[in-house]
Amino acid sequence: MKIAVYGKGGIGKSTLSCHLSIAFAKRGKRVLQIGCDPKHDSTFPLTGFLIPTIIDTLQAKDYHYEDVWPEDIIYQGYGGVDCVEAGGPPAGAGCGGYVVGETVKLLKELNAFYEYDVIIFDVLGDVVCGGFAAPLNYADYCLIATDNGFDSLFAANRIVASVREKARTHPLRLAGLVANRTTERDLINEYVKNCPIPVLETFSPLEQLRVSRVEGKTLFEKAEEDFSCFEFVESYLNLADQFLVQPEGVVANELNDRELFQTLSNL
Ligand code: ADP
Ligand code: MG
Repeated sequence: MKIAVYGKGGIGKSTLSCHLSIAFAKRGKRVLQIGCDPKHDSTFPLTGFLIPTIIDTLQAKDYHYEDVWPEDIIYQGYGGVDCVEAGGPPAGAGCGGYVVGETVKLLKELNAFYEYDVIIFDVLGDVVCGGFAAPLNYADYCLIATDNGFDSLFAANRIVASVREKARTHPLRLAGLVANRTTERDLINEYVKNCPIPVLETFSPLEQLRVSRVEGKTLFEKAEEDFSCFEFVESYLNLADQFLVQPEGVVANELNDRELFQTLSNL
């Protein structure tokens, strides 16, 4: 199963991806997380360091794919989750789609792409240009992280549009939204009333999470000694279980920008 995680910058996509990856691994699945954000810090909480990116490795080997070994690019992180960082396109040239394409091509050459039960693409989503929509070509499900604010719902709505477009030619579905770093749900509820999408889980703001991210740890690791993380970890196992039953998902029609402004300003 391949899942592409999208959402506004800083909304918690990498946090979501890392915890979901571990949750799948805890359920006995072989998991690969592919960071597709040029920020290349997606897998940092899993490995505790910034691993070399695919693009850096390819550049160092003069794009000789045959000289790249799995151990050059695949690093094992917490819970046995395998980690890859695609990296960014060369500054001012190339695009994110090229990077994702090269990453998948290389993983296929190394016979790694089909070895996993679950692959999570941790993407970005302020602007879903053709390039950053590339993971949707490979994904079965798109998962969107949002908070209860206008900007992240605006970004989410754009991603919903990209999924609708891609789903015309690919077997892609929208699994749903994850409400992150919020206790309020009024704007999200109003949005999904007008654009029916499942809300799979809600995560409130958690100080331990903010701290653990900088330490290069997830709350699964923290939960080994800190019981206060337990509820959070349980919610992630629950989220993974929702995927493991292979939900039907939806392909929703996005709101046009005017409808979106109207919907969210009526509150
Ligand atoms: P993205 O990958 O979308 O850019 P990150 O996952 O890197 O976002 O998260 C951005 C910051 O927000 C990180 O410092 C992270 O620890 C913090 N964060 C994410 N989710 C939560 C939450 N539920 N509560 C508190 N802080 C959070
Ligand atoms: Mg990120």
